[in-house]
Formats: sequence, structure tokens, C-alpha cells
Amino acid sequence: MNKNFKKIETKLIHSGEPEPRIGGAVTMPIFQSAMYETAGEGSYHDIKYIRLNNTPNQIALQEKLSALENAEAALVTSSGMAAITTSLLSFLSSGDHLLIQDTLYGGTHTFITHNIGQWGISYDFINGDDPDSWNDLLKPETKVIYMETMTNPLLQVADLETVVAFAKKHGLISIIDNTFASPINFRPAEWGFDLSCHSCTKYLNGHSDIVAGAVIGSANSIEKITHTLNHLGGTLDPHACFLLHRGVKTLAIRMERQNTNAMTIAVFLKNHPAVHHVNYPGLKNHPDHDRASKLFDGFSGMLSFELSGGLEASNRFIKKVKLPIVAPSLGGVETLVTLPAMTSHSGMSGEERLQLGITDSLIRLSVGIENVDDLMEDFEQALT
Ligand code: PLP
Repeated sequence: MNKNFKKIETKLIHSGEPEPRIGGAVTMPIFQSAMYETAGEGSYHDIKYIRLNNTPNQIALQEKLSALENAEAALVTSSGMAAITTSLLSFLSSGDHLLIQDTLYGGTHTFITHNIGQWGISYDFINGDDPDSWNDLLKPETKVIYMETMTNPLLQVADLETVVAFAKKHGLISIIDNTFASPINFRPAEWGFDLSCHSCTKYLNGHSDIVAGAVIGSANSIEKITHTLNHLGGTLDPHACFLLHRGVKTLAIRMERQNTNAMTIAVFLKNHPAVHHVNYPGLKNHPDHDRASKLFDGFSGMLSFELSGGLEASNRFIKKVKLPIVAPSLGGVETLVTLPAMTSHSGMSGEERLQLGITDSLIRLSVGIENVDDLMEDFEQALT
């Protein structure tokens, strides 16, 4: 099982696969058994039971995912939010303080602003671009610093190298939501992050047919988070494990196509007279382009943009496009389009959104693997 494959494309296919193959099966079979015969397990957490995250489909998948980010261990969870909330609650308890990036996936933002205080945990939002301001917000009780690789939906890239240095200097656990980049474009452990969270619902699975999550990091941290999850119960079931295991094998070729399609579309939109501006870190005029080029192997399939005609034009565009499906979420093989103010970030107040630069008319595109000329032809007719 623990062969050290060098390249990520090979790891996607071969890492974590059982050896010898179970009954000779080329594909990991589904182990649809809730519990397993007792074999002298030493502790509660070793009892083989799906909720305890240690059954064959979970183990194989966890080995594969940890290999992708060159980390020691991984844990699969029932959703991206289960990965994020369980990770935070494993390292924060009553009286502790969290530093967290100010632009976040809406669900994470709402969890922080609405729930985390119930457990006596305090927080401050930080501007990922302004490390000098972080010191003023640091407290003796600060335990965790939390970031996103590329912010949703504005695609900002924070000063991630300084985040790691800051965390190490002050003994904080650094956590990053790496969903938007995927391990193809960014591997947080290689840059010194302690933990990387994913909504596997998105790129890792890539087929828009399951909800799943993962957290990847050191063996000690993952063991601690697993023990929390064992009690909270946000476990990924064997059938969803099987689908994620199958989906992730094509991550490299999907992501490569999504990177290049998104780059082509970003340039097309940037040069279009009906478009006011485009947020895509692959564009040279993006404020974080140099940083993104240093950190990432690709700029992902996500971009957002504003039309010159404001909200009315955005609504018209959304109605007129034929190929993209108007739907929330992202990272699948099909192109999706959404207005974040109405979907992913609708849990935030209009004022909170505007403070961060998320206008009601902002359009977010999750670029799929279709032929890019077909997509651009469709955008052209919708924009004209
Ligand atoms: N992180 C990011 C960046 C997301 O975009 C999402 C969902 O859209 C999540 C986490 C939450 O993932 P899930 O819906 O799998 O819980």
C-alpha cells in the first residue's frame, strides 16, 4: 500500500490501492458493512466501524489523498463543512481565539459569525494582504490561523508564505481551505501549512454527484481530528468513498483542462467590451498574480467578473447562456454559473458582502471541461 510514487498523476491512480488487490479487483470494491468482527482492538477508536473512519474504503481513500499533498495522513468526512468545522473544533476550545481570513466561503463565514461563539471561542478577521495588521489582533489565547488558498468568489491570493512564518513564530496551527486550488495546483504541506481542508464535493470528486470532504496533514493532527469526528459523526459512507475514489483518479486531466479553459475564458472576458472587470489570478493584471505564480502550478477553473451594465446585465447574462448550468457549487466537469450574493454568500448580510467587495451583480463561473470555443461562442451571444 505505501509505495512512494513520484508524480501526482501516478499517485492519483496507484496510491492507497490495496496490495494484494482484493480478490484481484482492479477497482477498490465497496465494503458495505457497518461493523467488522472484533479482532482484539486496543481502544474505542480502533474498533472497526464506519463512524470511526477506519473501514477499508475510508482507509484506501485517506492514503491516496494524503499522498497527493505529500502529507502524512488524511481523513475523509461527510462534507467540506464537516472537514472545516471538525478541524477547527479539534484545536479550539472555550477561551481560545482564532485569526481567520476576512474573505471566506459563505458557509465557513456563517459558521464563524453565528456558531463558534456558542462554544466560548472568539475570533478576529484578518486581511490576508496586510501581515503588519495581524500582530495587533494576536492574543495570548490565539491558537489557530485559518485561510483559503484562493478566496471565494473574488479569487484573491493572500500572503500565504507569511501566514506560515507567522503561525510558526507564534505557535499557531495553520489551516488552509485548499478546495479552489486542488492538490494539482497547490499542496499546502509543501509550503509549511499544518492542515489542508477540502470540499471534495468540488474538484477532487469532479462529477457533481456526491458531497464529501477531507482534511490532510500530519499524522498527529489527523489522529486528533479523527477522534473528534468519531464523536461528532460526520463520516463518509462507503458508497460515497467509492465514488470519490473513482472520481479523484481523473483529477489531473480534469484540472489541467479546467486551468487552461479558465485562462482562455478570463482573457476573452477581459477583452470584451461588455465586461467591466475579471477576477482571475492567472491574468497578469490581477493584483495577486505574482504571488499566485510563485505558489501555484495552475490558477484553477474558477473566475468571477462584473459586467458594465450592473445587476440587470448580470441577470440577462445568466438567463441567456445556454451551455453553463445556473447552479451553485463548483469544480465539476460541467461549467456552472451563479451569482454568489444569491447562493454561496447569501448567508452574509448585503453590508458584509459589500465590505468585502462582493456585489450583488458579481458573476462566478466554475469552468468545466467542455470545448472552450463552444463556451466562448455561447458567452459571446449572451453578452451581445
Ligand atoms: N470550502 C469552499 C471553498 C467551498 O466553496 C465550499 C462549498 O461550496 C465548502 C468549503 C463547503 O463544502 P461542502 O458543501 O462540501 O460542505
